[in-house]
Amino acid sequence: MKPDLFNIASFLIDGGAMFGVVPKVLWSRVYSSDEDNLIVLTLRSLIIETDGHVILVDTGWGDKQDEKFFRHVHLHGGEGLISGLQKRGYRPEDITDVFLTHLHADHCGGATKWNKNHSGYELTFPDATYHISRTQWEWAAKSNLREADSFLEENIIPVEQSGRLNLVDEECELFKGFFVRMCYGHTPGLMIPVIKYKEKTLVYTGDLIPTLAHIPVIWNMSYDIESLKTIDEKERLLEEALEENYILVFQHDKDTECCTLEMTPKGIRAKEKFNFSEIK
Ligand SMILES: [Zn+2]
Repeated sequence: MKPDLFNIASFLIDGGAMFGVVPKVLWSRVYSSDEDNLIVLTLRSLIIETDGHVILVDTGWGDKQDEKFFRHVHLHGGEGLISGLQKRGYRPEDITDVFLTHLHADHCGGATKWNKNHSGYELTFPDATYHISRTQWEWAAKSNLREADSFLEENIIPVEQSGRLNLVDEECELFKGFFVRMCYGHTPGLMIPVIKYKEKTLVYTGDLIPTLAHIPVIWNMSYDIESLKTIDEKERLLEEALEENYILVFQHDKDTECCTLEMTPKGIRAKEKFNFSEIK
């Protein structure tokens, strides 16, 4: 069955923070912002069936936090997590594996939810195994001042208590045709899925290349913990992707779902842009 991609919800974030040291006069030509300098990001999740597994990649913000928290995030649009899955014929119990690229709140929040009487939390996908890299898990557990706002206890502890956590130690073929690439620049142990579909290779670029505008290797988010590592990891991925004709799939780009790459005088850039549904 063909993998599918859907936007759980869009949200707003400071454009300057998303483009780090790149001046606004440059980034605003390729990614639009509003009068408060906020830009729209999507939260696209992948759903993949392979070898008897039904795998969901990332889960969006979820809905455990209060109104004040979400006022700040400005959630809007999108299909919703459960309704987006339902539209594609999946109930929460059908998901066998939840793959979390990392534990920042916009990626893992939807993996857990309030229980029925609002007294505690439970897994959103009760029968799934939750896959997180060991490096990221240990990093988030000790947290740090820079990422404290992104590593929320209520998103992490219930997964640990469920006993359904699988810590991924290294790069591997986690499921048939589903490969894991480990990255360390955005946050240590960010997992990037590389998926073989028919003759094609799809890379879900997550927070390594959040939007098409982040393809230039030095256009990076200020959220990255180690920019030089991000630059190196992007460079290696982009070179391989160009060579092997991979399709990049963007989690956060409001305008573009997928692209192929080409070499230009300025370096590797997007070639064709298209929607995930156009992948044959
Ligand atoms: Zn992140």
